[in-house]
Amino acid sequence: MSRIRSRDTLPEILLRSELSRLGLRYRLHAKSLPGKPDIVNQRRRFAIFVHGCFWHQHRDCIQASSPKSNQAYWGPKLAANVLRDSRHIHSLEKSGYHVTVAWECEIEKDPRAIARQIVAALKRSRRISD
Ligand SMILES: [Zn+2]
Repeated sequence: MSRIRSRDTLPEILLRSELSRLGLRYRLHAKSLPGKPDIVNQRRRFAIFVHGCFWHQHRDCIQASSPKSNQAYWGPKLAANVLRDSRHIHSLEKSGYHVTVAWECEIEKDPRAIARQIVAALKRSRRISD
């Protein structure tokens, strides 16, 4: 599989620094977990994926539109990515993880707002306390 994707993309770095400012403790790229979540805390059971809009097909996002050429190639490839993502999320949730998908376009727009939303949701789900 050629999921062309580098570690430590700019949106990932932006989100991480905002999460740190809010006091969230986490580790990076948990290789032992399904889908290797980008940001994770195994003790507190939360996992955050930072997804590129194109590779992971962000719904209704302009950046997710597939190339006009070579649809026969990209269609199945991208569909397989989406399927794989949902399997990973499902299996993490089955192990009791609170899973968040943060999309690159939304982080680029306002990393602080996304970080706040994530932290608020983790508090609501009692993964972290106030
Ligand atoms: Zn997007």
